[in-house]
Amino acid sequence: MKWDAWGDPALAKELSVEVKALLAAALGVTGAPAPGPSAAEAVLQPSLLTDADLKALAAVVGDAHVSAADADRLPRAGGKSTPDLLRRRSHRPQDAPDAVVLPGTEDEVAALLALCAERRIAVVPFGGGTSVVGGLEPLREGFAAVVSLDLRRFDGLLDLDETSGEAVLGAGLTGPAAEALLAERGFELGHYPQSFRFATIGGFAATRSSGQDSAGYGRFDEMVRGLRVVTPSGVLDLGRAPASAAGPDLRELFLGSEGTLGVITAVRVRVHPVPAAKAYEAWSFPDFTAGAQALRAVEQQGTGPTVIRLSDEAETAINLALTERIGGEPAVSGCLAVTVFEGGAEQVAARQQLTRAALLAAGGSSLGEAPARAWEHGRFNAPYLRDSLLNAGALCETLETATDWRQLPFLRFAVTAALTTALPGALVLCHISHVYPTGASLYFTVVAAMGEDPLAQWAAAKRAAGDAIMANGGTITHHHAVGADHRPWMTDEVGELGVRILRAVKAAVDPAGILNPGKLIP
Ligand SMILES: Cc1cc2nc3c(=O)[nH]c(=O)nc-3n(C[C@H](O)[C@H](O)[C@H](O)COP(=O)(O)OP(=O)(O)OC[C@H]3O[C@@H](n4cnc5c(N)ncnc54)[C@H](O)[C@@H]3O)c2cc1C
Repeated sequence: MKWDAWGDPALAKELSVEVKALLAAALGVTGAPAPGPSAAEAVLQPSLLTDADLKALAAVVGDAHVSAADADRLPRAGGKSTPDLLRRRSHRPQDAPDAVVLPGTEDEVAALLALCAERRIAVVPFGGGTSVVGGLEPLREGFAAVVSLDLRRFDGLLDLDETSGEAVLGAGLTGPAAEALLAERGFELGHYPQSFRFATIGGFAATRSSGQDSAGYGRFDEMVRGLRVVTPSGVLDLGRAPASAAGPDLRELFLGSEGTLGVITAVRVRVHPVPAAKAYEAWSFPDFTAGAQALRAVEQQGTGPTVIRLSDEAETAINLALTERIGGEPAVSGCLAVTVFEGGAEQVAARQQLTRAALLAAGGSSLGEAPARAWEHGRFNAPYLRDSLLNAGALCETLETATDWRQLPFLRFAVTAALTTALPGALVLCHISHVYPTGASLYFTVVAAMGEDPLAQWAAAKRAAGDAIMANGGTITHHHAVGADHRPWMTDEVGELGVRILRAVKAAVDPAGILNPGKLIP
């Protein structure tokens, strides 16, 4: 993973001359900003850990698994939001964790937490480093120093129960590594967020991630059957049975806990046999309202697509201009919807037929397979485009929310208005990426000409959008989580009493407050 951009450096793409000309004409993008430092040139604040601290950390995990070197601190300095990337591009001294520690066992995690509590060192659990909400910021919040606790050594398939369809996965496994281990045994998890190639099993659980196949396989939190969590107060092994009436479900406290309540070391997840058949079909709707009504009909009838998503008019047009075309793909106008079906051949055919009937009845026109295959082919590539846009002088960022079907059009209108008021002339694209019988998520992409201070420019737009979300019945986040960036809205989201409950839980499991301070809990 690149330290100052998304993903694999080999996949980075320059914008064409035509696209740059379009950005200038349509958005007033005036030219590329000065390039940021190389990794060797980046200046970090010096580590605040003493030699004695580093020796004590090494005594727990071994010399090879502690580092205060800039080369190790820099890649853990933050996540991959646009503000993170803009900060990485600064020539000024950057903040970073004071050291990186890589425990290999739960006992080492427990010993590290005890040591850090004793020495007043904050701990930021680190998975794949793909947070887009400031979840990995090295905030010290009154502690002497902060370390990044990297889970990458928890990388095994610990158990596969083929009879029950459950697997126990190490928290540090990335999406592809987990799928490869399961595929060797003929199974699949089916969790494909856009950050799939780099994000980890522990990170998915800690942020309540949602993948693109959520219509078929559910959100990641719905796949979780059990969790092992090391807290400063002890180890929890949660989830005894597929369902239970033994009081409130404590797994729910740790799903979405974002490293503030404990370190997740292993996750027991529902898995399924690798699907035997797959079918694709894309659809066109005259407008977003008609498309959204069609998706609602499909979800409320339960016709069973594995993937179903809808782009608005602007996103459909932009994707058409930028997506790599695959054999004979027809041109799309209006709003593009994509459906994918997975499972046994007969079930796939039956579910596709039911879904087709619902989409046709709702005014959709079938575009055949090609645009849906093209979407799948390029589904992990969009983040590279953000880097190219930033390089060219265009500010680009995404945000997301969810609400019920009745409120959805009003929320979409309010967020779009907030963004275009804060960023005059901005292009705002929107899609529905996850559907439920009672509502759906809305995912916005914003592109605007970069001003003198792009961090302040985005902060103002984000504030306006967050306020609009809360005022119009949305949740501050459907799947990106809270981190530092959404924390100002948490009291509105769960209420004063809700915040007091979260604080009480934190006091029970992390009395010294060392775990990821400044995130999630106000
Ligand atoms: C380009 C891009 C696309 C994205 N697309 C999606 C998407 O489609 N769907 C989606 O849901 N999200 C998406 N995200 C957000 C992000 O990928 C998710 O939040 C992901 O679940 C984070 O996993 P990670 O392993 O990278 O965790 P990190 O970024 O390393 O950490 C995220 C948070 O979880 C905590 N944490 C991590 N591991 C553990 C652990 N083992 N125990 C306790 N706490 C832990 C961290 O302290 C931090 O607060 C995207 C992000 C990017 C940059």
